[in-house]
Amino acid sequence: MRSFVYDALPGRVVFGVGSLDTIADEVARLGVAKALVLSTPPQREQAEDVARRLGSAAAGVFAEAEMHVPIEVAARARDEARRLGADACVAVGGGSTTGLGKAIALAYGLPIIAVPTTFAGSEMTPIWGLTEDGIKKTGRDPKVLPKTVIYDPTLVMTLPVSIAGPSGMNAIAHCVEALYAENGNPIISMMAEEGIRALARSLPAVVGRPDDIEARSDAQYGAWLAGASLGSVGMALHHKLCHTLGGSFNLPHAETHTIVIPHATAYNYRAAPEAMARIARALGSDDPAGAIFDLGTAIGARMALRDLGMTEADLDRAADLAVENPYYNPRPITRDGIRALLEDAFHGRRPSR
Ligand code: NAD
Repeated sequence: MRSFVYDALPGRVVFGVGSLDTIADEVARLGVAKALVLSTPPQREQAEDVARRLGSAAAGVFAEAEMHVPIEVAARARDEARRLGADACVAVGGGSTTGLGKAIALAYGLPIIAVPTTFAGSEMTPIWGLTEDGIKKTGRDPKVLPKTVIYDPTLVMTLPVSIAGPSGMNAIAHCVEALYAENGNPIISMMAEEGIRALARSLPAVVGRPDDIEARSDAQYGAWLAGASLGSVGMALHHKLCHTLGGSFNLPHAETHTIVIPHATAYNYRAAPEAMARIARALGSDDPAGAIFDLGTAIGARMALRDLGMTEADLDRAADLAVENPYYNPRPITRDGIRALLEDAFHGRRPSR
């Protein structure tokens, strides 16, 4: 067996239908007196419900979270936390809302209690992101890792199919890259493989039968494993490419991941045989890249970058940006290789292997 380092991340997970009922107890367990409840504008009602459940332990609701945490929104949320004397944040929502909680935690060290409502996985990671002048900076800091995560499948029942499918594919992408991470280890590989298995078996039902709570619960279980994988080991080509495409071409986060992940898998196929064997086993196919593409198609996701508004003229610049700074990837990154990958993803061609 090869040598490795496994760095366990702390955190308490409360999982199951009805687990939101424990929110007041979970907040009290952390010794919190006044928590600021966060959400996006469309999820204000869910945030207000959580604030009601907290009673006097709620400092207020800040429902202005936005994708990629613009610095101006982070500044307003930090001011509000200060003004209300909050000593914790409860983030009710997807990666955008958890990200806003992390921005507050980064500045003031407040603990975060996360109540995820998508499959993005940010709640399990110490990774923060902040966007200033159109550029998203990210970093790792243990103080932004949520202390407690409450996964209640009831909360993902309202997630529209069009968001749920790509959000689950985004989680699969975390698992795929964790399996060939530079600092990978057997524990995380086990979780990542199981994450792919749970997501691949549940996503068709998540979109096909939106009222199937078992399927949404199974997808949330997969999303938890995916988030834990993302939080524990480093990512590679796929995440770098999506970061570039999202930041420089303003493409939507989860949908971009959905389109790129089959192609990144194919790119690394020969260079990461152990990872590919696990992905293949989890998907029940000997063609991991093709099977991921087929899953995206089966759940009705858009599978071509051109359908997200990218133009063919953008491909050269995207390839240049993607090779600008060197980073780890199992197969060496070449400008020609990335340009070809992007072209396939642009046209929505099905990759193989
Ligand atoms: P999101 O949080 O932006 O949510 C997408 C939309 O869906 C929002 O309008 C939201 O209000 C709505 N929504 C969410 N849950 C809902 C529900 N249950 N019912 C109805 N509507 C609901 O999307 P996301 O994909 O979860 O997060 C994307 C962001 O998270 C990106 O900025 C990404 O970079 C970041 N992210 C960070 C990490 C990390 O570890 N730091 C991990 C994954 C994603």
